[in-house]
Parts: sequence; C-alpha cells; structure tokens
Amino acid sequence: MERTYLDQCLKDGLTVRWPDSAMPIRVYVAPFRWYEKSKQNESYAYNQMVFDAFELWSKVSEGRVRFQQVAQLDGSQIDVSWRRVDRKSLGHCQYLVNQQSLLYSAEIKIGISDGLVHGQYNDMDEVKHTILHEIAHALGLIGHSDAGDDIMYVPHQYGVINISQRDIDTLKTLYKLPPAFDYLAVGRKFKLKEPFTLHQVLDHLEGRSEAAGKKIDFIPPPPPENPAVLQSQHDILSHMGKFHLATQNIKVDPALKKMFIAKKHSPPPH
Ligand SMILES: [Zn+2]
Repeated sequence: MERTYLDQCLKDGLTVRWPDSAMPIRVYVAPFRWYEKSKQNESYAYNQMVFDAFELWSKVSEGRVRFQQVAQLDGSQIDVSWRRVDRKSLGHCQYLVNQQSLLYSAEIKIGISDGLVHGQYNDMDEVKHTILHEIAHALGLIGHSDAGDDIMYVPHQYGVINISQRDIDTLKTLYKLPPAFDYLAVGRKFKLKEPFTLHQVLDHLEGRSEAAGKKIDFIPPPPPENPAVLQSQHDILSHMGKFHLATQNIKVDPALKKMFIAKKHSPPPH
C-alpha cells in the first residue's frame, strides 16, 4: 500500500486544493437544532463537533490549512449544513474548482439519523466520522482511501472515529506540493521510466528513490545570473539571426529584405 492515497484524489491528472492565499478559509456552519426540547444539549454538541473537526484538520496540517468561522452565509467559502440522513449517503460534499485546479467553494451536508435508518449511526462518534470525512473532501482529498483505518475510506466503517496517520500524510503532501501539481509532467521532466506513478514521482522529488540520491527541489533553481554571459549569448543569437536573414531566402518582410539587399549594395560610407 502507498504512503498516501493522493493518487486517488486527482482531477484530470492534477491535484486539487485551496491556494495558500485563501487561508484562513471562511467557514459558515448552519445552527443545528432538534425540535425536541430534551435534545437541546445535543444540538450544541453537534455544532461543536464541526468546529472541533475543522480545528483538528488545521492542527494536523501544521497550519497549512486554516479556518475562520463567519456568522453569515454571505461571504463564506465552506458552508456546512444538516439534513436527515438517507440510505444513499451519510454525508455529502460538493466543491467548485477553477481552471487552475484551485478550490474556491465547498458545500457540506451532514446527515443526522432520525433513528429509523442506519441504526448504528445514532452514535455521535459516527457523525463525527462523517464530519471529518466531508471536510477532507472540501479541502481537496476528493477521492477515497483504499485502507479501512482511514477516515476517507468508503463505505463508512463503524468504529473508525479519528483521522489516521495516512490521512494526515495525504493532506500534508497535498498542501506541500504546489497547487495543480502535474505528476506526469514532473516525472517526464526527470525522465522517470514510464509508466510511473504519483508516488514514484514523489519518491524521486523527496530523495527516496535509488536514482535520486539527494533531495531535489520541485522546481530546479535557475542558474545564477551573469550579465556578461547573458549579453554575449544575446549577441550570438542576434548575429545568427542576421546571418540567417542575409543568407537564406526565407520569408522575410519584403521591405526588410529590400533594406538588407540595399545595404549590401550601398556604396561604402564616405
Ligand atoms: Zn466520501
């Protein structure tokens, strides 16, 4: 099994996440209320569970994702609301991604059991599982894990009520990489033997692969600037260009061509 399940979270081959400039992400949580008076305390607990879940994801990301609670739907970026759970799913997350593969809006719906369907789901810990799971979708873990211990595994595993180390590693890797990370392009740039996986590219970048030897920056730094070298390269190129124009009968603007020919035959200066 791979160290993360980030390869399950790609859209058109690219990673999907919020830009760093979006932090803190503005979150609106709709108030949750049972109609029965006897359940008022539970209402508070459900709302608190959502705030705790955001806090937990922020903490395990080591601050790479951060949130700010807002009091109004207007101006929020992630909205959380409640609904009666149905047989199809316990929770739901709908997210919007722009053309740069950046998240800019997400809507989470958390299912609450009325005791009629999903009997086991009456346990608040299981609702916590759903909250943690749906928030992770909203952060860019848009796919699902292949390990039952992970919060992002489907179907919902009863008794799994916390984020696993693999969940943490997947989110941290996502936010450590530049947005819209294109592992195919990067792997080809480093001439990895095809076909290669996202994890083979990550191993190479982070110096874990045999071939890599030492840690490589994601984007190799440009060579140090040397004005004299740059100028001479520029001169060589422009000379080559002139040479080309003068010797080849290529498609040159007729006026320009005339000028060159005229120059050639012009009498030496006085
Ligand atoms: Zn899911």
